Amino acid sequence: MSRPATCSRREFLAFASLFGWLPFFRPGHVSLAGVRFRIVRSGRSKRRYLWIHGNEETARGLLLRHMQAHDGTAFFIESPTRNVPFEGGQIDPNRMFSRAGAEINLKSLNPDWPPERIAHALDLLDRGRPKLIAALFPPAGGLLVALHNNSEDYSVAHEEPLSDAGSLRDREHPHAFFLCTDPADFKILSESPYNVVLQQHAPQPDDGSLSRLAAARGVRYVNLESRLGNRDRQEDMLAWLEWHLP
Ligand SMILES: [Zn+2]
Repeated sequence: MSRPATCSRREFLAFASLFGWLPFFRPGHVSLAGVRFRIVRSGRSKRRYLWIHGNEETARGLLLRHMQAHDGTAFFIESPTRNVPFEGGQIDPNRMFSRAGAEINLKSLNPDWPPERIAHALDLLDRGRPKLIAALFPPAGGLLVALHNNSEDYSVAHEEPLSDAGSLRDREHPHAFFLCTDPADFKILSESPYNVVLQQHAPQPDDGSLSRLAAARGVRYVNLESRLGNRDRQEDMLAWLEWHLP
């Protein structure tokens, strides 16, 4: 037996529309071709945060805690692994922000897919991408911060040759660094005691990562990288960023 409703959904929506919006009606997820992100909102702010690789647990825990004390909107990938299930195969969610980058990634992760299956998957991504990008990118003047963790095979040494500028004040810890797209942000971050590189002009080839797209679109974007497990350093760097960047 169903409980009697005190007011219909239609009445409730009419009521809600009188107030412009209600938090209750804001979506809790955004997705692209089945790749889902949970949205966590706190207050009103132009800050956006992203955790996109499901195996980078240090960054996830830090961002969850950060959102308890800071205003902004955070997006958490719904996956326990770096690569996520996609159309019966898999994809790296930080390689799907351009068709060219996604094509390279899909071919490498799904070597048995014939060309027409790759093309179909790329078309699917092309159709859904604008909606996801509109959700992830901040409003004009806002900042998007993506938190990542790395291990032995990736450090600032890989990004330095691709960058427009760099300030490596902590070469002892090459796994901890900022990668930013905005020259004004770079100027401020380069006054920190941490490593920072600027990639204002999306380096080629386009690997389909969000930093490349942000650079191409002139969006203020900062990647905050630290070694997996090194939460203290990532927390210090995030605090420095929050305190100093507008
Ligand atoms: Zn990552």
